[in-house]
Amino acid sequence: MSLQSEARVDLAAIRANVATVRGLTSADVMAVVKADGYGHGLVPAARAALAGGASWLGVATLDEALAVRAAGITAPVLAWLIAPKQPLREAIEADVELSVATDWLLEDVVAAAAQAGRTARVQLKVDTGLGRGGAGRAEWPELVATAAKHAAAGAVEITAIWSHFARADEPGDPSIVMQQENFGAALAIAKDRGVDPPIRHLANTAATLTLPEAHYDLVRVGIGMYGYSPIPGRTFGLRPAMTMRGSVAVVKRLPAGHGISYGHIYTTSRETTVALVPLGYGDGIPRQASNIAPLWIGGRRHTISGRVCMDQFVVDVGDLPVDVGDDAVLFGPGDDGEPTADDWAAALDTISYEIVTRVGARVPRTYVGEEIA
Ligand SMILES: *Cc1c(COP(=O)(O)O)cnc(C)c1O
Repeated sequence: MSLQSEARVDLAAIRANVATVRGLTSADVMAVVKADGYGHGLVPAARAALAGGASWLGVATLDEALAVRAAGITAPVLAWLIAPKQPLREAIEADVELSVATDWLLEDVVAAAAQAGRTARVQLKVDTGLGRGGAGRAEWPELVATAAKHAAAGAVEITAIWSHFARADEPGDPSIVMQQENFGAALAIAKDRGVDPPIRHLANTAATLTLPEAHYDLVRVGIGMYGYSPIPGRTFGLRPAMTMRGSVAVVKRLPAGHGISYGHIYTTSRETTVALVPLGYGDGIPRQASNIAPLWIGGRRHTISGRVCMDQFVVDVGDLPVDVGDDAVLFGPGDDGEPTADDWAAALDTISYEIVTRVGARVPRTYVGEEIA
């Protein structure tokens, strides 16, 4: 049996990408596996990254962190996006490190640690200019002082101070140096208040690839481990891990002037062969890909013809001899000429991150390149 559609993930590529990153830095590597490992599968991606030399895992939510632990993975894991009323006690008991940037969360963590009868491991996050999460300049000194007090009482252990870049994917942007300076200032403010944890981290993939002076003790690598570069035009030797494919389900000839798919926004210009691919927006293929996005069928590149529907779309392949059951490759590593997620991103005016992460739950993830035990 072959699968009607699949997102095939090359775990050897993930291992190799992490090893490539490790070769660029003396810092430890945190593999970022939030959002189901950017669509690649949380646990398989995490295991492959650890096999490739990562020593930390990073996730957004506590549920993601707990899923890592439920799989039996014992590597340090940091969760950095926590809204009220989340399972803090469970996370503390599971040895999940918690990013804290607000008074309310610090107090909730202290209370949960007391319930657990454990010391919670926290990483204090400072906003150095992103303007998103993290304690602002005004809140930072007090957050640090309060955390120091709770650390002295044994409720928390402050393991790290960290921050996140806004524009590291635009090398040379003045905000980058400014954020590094602000990070240095935030570290100094913390040190003045007796908070001088062993780990400082700031770099995402872009900064890991282009800005060694921002590596500190740990780099957080997301998109790079999946094989995409956030810096336009430079690959850094990374290899895309995911191949998104479907099997052609219908092939037929249509006459000239025939409308294709909902709304007939594509019309055949001459008698032609059309192929139906069983993937649609229910699988995470953006409807915006209608008439725009590239794919590979029968050894050639084509463009989606007409509207992407919930479950399917159509491709005008001209007179190419395409058969039912042939592979339609939407994106892959690009080895054979197939498009990459970067090509999709360029066509749709988005980023590779969104293309791979939005692949839907209906599409089975399959794995190749497992380590041979
Ligand atoms: C998602 C995320 C990362 C990873 O970013 P990449 O650009 O994919 O490397 C790092 N840090 C934080 C805080 C994130 O949210």
